[in-house]
Amino acid sequence: MIVAQRKPFPEIKQALASYPNILVAGCGTCVAVCLAGGKKEVGLLASQLRMSFGMDQKEVQVAEVTLERQCDREFLETIKEKVEQADAVLSLACGAGIQFLAEAYPGRPVYPGVNTTFIGVAEAAGLWTERCRACGECVLAETGGICPRTMCAKGLNNGPCGGMTEGQCEVDPERPCAWVKIVERLVAEGRLAQLESLRPMRDYRKQARPGKVTHRAYLRRYHADSK
Ligand code: SF4
Ligand code: SF4
Repeated sequence: MIVAQRKPFPEIKQALASYPNILVAGCGTCVAVCLAGGKKEVGLLASQLRMSFGMDQKEVQVAEVTLERQCDREFLETIKEKVEQADAVLSLACGAGIQFLAEAYPGRPVYPGVNTTFIGVAEAAGLWTERCRACGECVLAETGGICPRTMCAKGLNNGPCGGMTEGQCEVDPERPCAWVKIVERLVAEGRLAQLESLRPMRDYRKQARPGKVTHRAYLRRYHADSK
């Protein structure tokens, strides 16, 4: 899932201060799970904005909506009327959703209400940790299911580095060295031999930005020259 955190309220309020009609738009997927931008957070933030602008004696209308997904055009179309009635939209979706909403409604200012942080997992209630940097060349098969590009502070392709001390990371001694964990895991699985040769240099072309993926069933539709 994509993990995000709500921006500080003063930053949000300042960004919206010049608009008399605001739409707060949430997303019902990842940002709802990480308690940053789902229906509940939309309601709380909208109330906070109403109260705060009211205390400033400013006439500001704050409407609310939460889509199933903001990263899907089909759902964005369902809020057309609400967006057109607003002078500005505050999106609580991840960075991808915010951009897609802005793209769908040119001419309508769209502001981010969250900081998108990483692709991660829910470790426990209220605790999320990063697991993947979307490198486009997944090496988990060779590294015992532990991502060196994310879990190693230096993103090393071969490790551990010379700074590892007693199994802990040089950069953050509070954390275990990712490469030690990889080795331990491969030993436990009887697969350590696969680390005996140096892994090739990472191919950064696989992480070309902005990324684009076309499912093979749709190649003809989007790439006329493909066979
Ligand atoms: S190797 Fe790449 S795709 Fe696989 S988990 Fe790590 S960053 Fe993500
Ligand atoms: S000590 Fe381990 S996790 Fe830390 S930077 Fe070096 S190889 Fe990476």
